[in-house]
Amino acid sequence: MRLFISEISDSRRALDVEPLFLQEELTPEATLIGHNLSISFYKAGDVIALSITGEAETRTLCNRCAEPIEVSFDVDEKFYVFPKSDAESVDYIYSGDTLLLDDFIHEALVMTAPSYILCDDDCKGRCPQCGVDLNTTTCQCNNDMNNKI
Ligand SMILES: [Zn+2]
Ligand SMILES: [Zn+2]
Repeated sequence: MRLFISEISDSRRALDVEPLFLQEELTPEATLIGHNLSISFYKAGDVIALSITGEAETRTLCNRCAEPIEVSFDVDEKFYVFPKSDAESVDYIYSGDTLLLDDFIHEALVMTAPSYILCDDDCKGRCPQCGVDLNTTTCQCNNDMNNKI
């Protein structure tokens, strides 16, 4: 989705974000399965301020036991986009008549997607020796290791 630069004024407006990036990977483990985001924008002088807020949901893997889980997370990211003439020292620039929003939406999702997720705070993880899921199975390996997890 994109904005016409000429439509961005100094008063803040907001749009609902289109259903972009669904079923795409945010990280090697986490797939985006839904979001309910809005993007607000205004111009301060030549600088365009973007704010992407809302909630998103991913399907990912528990960091301990690797079982698939679905988690939602809050998105709240701001970007300041500068005209191309200032490009030397800034992260985000625009040029031409339109501002493409997709990259900002994607970056907001990637930056806020949780990277360390447990299926449960008490997840027992997997046995480091035989690999069974200790939440559902017990094994006969060295229990000294298992008890520390
Ligand atoms: Zn787990
Ligand atoms: Zn084991």
